[in-house]
Amino acid sequence: MKEVLIVGSVALDSIETPAGTVDNALGGAATYGAAAASLFSPVQLVGVVGDDFPAEHTQFLESRGIDLEGLQRIEGGKTFRWKGDYIDDLNAAVTHETQLGVFEHFEPTLPESYKKAELVFLANINPSLQLQVLDQVENPKLVLCDTMNLWINLAREAVLKVFGRVDIAVLNDGEARMLTEEDNLLVAGRQLLELGPRAVIIKKGEHGSLMITRDALFSVPAYPLDKVVDPTGAGDTFAGSIMGYLAKTGDLSDANLRRAIVYGGAVASCTVQEFSLGGVRDLKLDEIERRFQFVRDLCAF
Ligand code: AMP
Repeated sequence: MKEVLIVGSVALDSIETPAGTVDNALGGAATYGAAAASLFSPVQLVGVVGDDFPAEHTQFLESRGIDLEGLQRIEGGKTFRWKGDYIDDLNAAVTHETQLGVFEHFEPTLPESYKKAELVFLANINPSLQLQVLDQVENPKLVLCDTMNLWINLAREAVLKVFGRVDIAVLNDGEARMLTEEDNLLVAGRQLLELGPRAVIIKKGEHGSLMITRDALFSVPAYPLDKVVDPTGAGDTFAGSIMGYLAKTGDLSDANLRRAIVYGGAVASCTVQEFSLGGVRDLKLDEIERRFQFVRDLCAF
């Protein structure tokens, strides 16, 4: 079984949704991604936290077998914090505050044992940090990236540069439209393919996802839920599970990528049923398998 190297934010999130609020809960794109990928395969994490990062969160990540050698802890530093709400739209977070804290001066240095990583997940963080990590990996077989509206606004050129260096680009429908200035998702996806990736996966929240490659399209619904508690981390657990499943199976073909996407959707559906990491903390593979089969049946005709 291969390992997945993940870089991205490790955060303390304060979130409001129609179901309630949480303050300074464990979050971050890399945290969600690593928690999901570790359901399937070993994970190496690259990130940074301050000395305000609670020990219980580190213990949780360790309990999942996640390698934390690449997680720096800065004495006197403040952990990245994100504050947002989903009051008007459960499919789109409204950011109230982003405090970069220790991410502002972060220089990722990969431990020796990480440099040979074959699968790399560039989770959401400043795209220049994603590029710095990619520069240090010797010979990756598959690189997947994610991003968000903030970086498309602040660092569009760097985001495009990242897209040019990955095999799979994942982004949501709004981000795809924003990055390409194209309303039609198929046209937007095809434009993004021209930057270099072999596949572009567009997430559509409760409506599932669409994969666009040079010679095929693949569309899958989301696992249907009658209640969403907290959409935070859905995209990160979706992408983390895709990478974990590819690592577990060792099969990087497009056919297996389709299965990985359905597993990703299954884990994402569990994520949104609780606040913070609650939905994936005790998640078992048989529940993921059950949701995978459910979606397979949902689409059969
Ligand atoms: P998502 O899967 O898109 O819901 O990702 C949610 C996570 O993204 C939250 O746990 C936040 O901590 C994290 N996040 C929010 N803003 C940023 C940012 N600017 N850079 C990196 N991570 C972020």
